[in-house]
Amino acid sequence: MPGDTVSVIRPRTYEEAASAVRDCAARGAVARGGPGRAYGDAARNSGGTVLDMTGLDRVHVVDADEGIVLCGSGVLLHRLAELMLPLGWFVPVAPATGRATVGGAIGADVHGGNHPVSGSFSHHVLSLELLTADGEVRTVKPGTELFAATAGGMGLTGVILTATIRLLPVETAYLTVDTERAADLDDLMARLTDGDHRRYGCARIDLTARGADTGRAVLTRADHTPLDALRTGTRAWRHPLSCRPRRRPPALALLSGGLPGSLLGRTSAGLLGGLRYRTAPRARSGELRPLSADFPALAAPQGTRRTGCVRYRFAVGHGQEETLHRIVRRLAAYRCGSFHAVLQPLGDTDAGWLSFPLPGWTLALDIPAALPGLAGFLDGLDEEVAAAGGRVCLAEDSRLRPGLLTTMYPRAADFRTLRARLDPRGVFVSDLARRLDL
Ligand SMILES: Cc1cc2nc3c(=O)[nH]c(=O)nc-3n(C[C@H](O)[C@H](O)[C@H](O)COP(=O)(O)OP(=O)(O)OC[C@H]3O[C@@H](n4cnc5c(N)ncnc54)[C@H](O)[C@@H]3O)c2cc1C
Repeated sequence: MPGDTVSVIRPRTYEEAASAVRDCAARGAVARGGPGRAYGDAARNSGGTVLDMTGLDRVHVVDADEGIVLCGSGVLLHRLAELMLPLGWFVPVAPATGRATVGGAIGADVHGGNHPVSGSFSHHVLSLELLTADGEVRTVKPGTELFAATAGGMGLTGVILTATIRLLPVETAYLTVDTERAADLDDLMARLTDGDHRRYGCARIDLTARGADTGRAVLTRADHTPLDALRTGTRAWRHPLSCRPRRRPPALALLSGGLPGSLLGRTSAGLLGGLRYRTAPRARSGELRPLSADFPALAAPQGTRRTGCVRYRFAVGHGQEETLHRIVRRLAAYRCGSFHAVLQPLGDTDAGWLSFPLPGWTLALDIPAALPGLAGFLDGLDEEVAAAGGRVCLAEDSRLRPGLLTTMYPRAADFRTLRARLDPRGVFVSDLARRLDL
């Protein structure tokens, strides 16, 4: 069986990466950021070669005045954040996992809760070095076709060796956080959009709520705290940029990610989601929280993927709010009991041809995999999302059927054409690429 063995190589130099690509067998090669904890199959290559890029983990150049960093693609985002915070810079985009590398963040063009303000990760990349299938190392800049194919290109254009990134200036290592409850989905979307200029915003929906309460949620919005907002004499004021990785209390860590989906049946997952809503403050503003409390990029470098769950993340555009309503109603009626049901607004479309974000909304769910009829249920949601001009997130997917890809990603044809030209032998390949014929 081709899927039985995978050859994992951890290059420590460009030459080792190049020879791993040159010597890979017929099943080809793909790069991955870390130890294979990602949700989807984009960084897997059954029966072939996988390049674990965490060996290329050096930060080569730091321009502390301009906040520009040149680093190896295997540098973890949490390491970059820890290194740069004391200098007054933070990662411009942080996904909800501490394990993402710079290469993985570009390969999947990740987005965070600041997408409407900051765009996705590749928006902050000034240039990258790409090892292509012909063994060449190319410098790739924004504004070129190769950049558009590589940002969100799921590792299929080549191996990113280094990247030059512009970071976000911050005055403190703190966030000023507002929390409130939204009564239903309309209320939630209105609050998330109405003239809101705060940098971060996301909401956890309580999927146990039905009828008039459907879509009720706990909404959190935050901004980086300016220096003059810190109370004089406090520890924060004395060390405004000190970054202390924060371990969450074990019970909280379990609830937020460590509890396997197999132990988290419909009822228990639902109860936890409902509990979170009922125990949240009705409205609380101006809470000062260390960045490490809200960013897994600083708090949980070991990653927080919940085992035994299927991740489902989709986006629909503005004007398709009725589709979002229908899907949330269907999820509530299916009683999938997702503990994690996070809605975020998205801003403008990013440069990458296969980048996920589009101007509108994204909802991410962890659904216990053992629920009866789940596969058919999610296929139905895919069709609804595609019919609304939306898409599922390739970086977090392992089940989408190929027929819907081009509807969801209209630039997929350009991507395939460029790939055929750049890599005629099909050296770079992954389970995702095979499944979706990318
Ligand atoms: C708990 C959890 C929460 C998440 N939350 C979010 C979120 O909020 N927003 C979001 O956008 N995503 C999110 N994701 C998805 C995740 O951030 C992305 O998949 C990210 O790419 C992971 O980084 P990685 O370094 O592990 O890359 P991998 O998962 O290993 O790889 C991702 C893709 O990038 C490619 N790649 C990796 N390194 C390189 C390289 N050096 N050169 C070329 N290609 C490369 C791989 O081939 C693959 O196609 C989440 C994932 C988890 C597990």
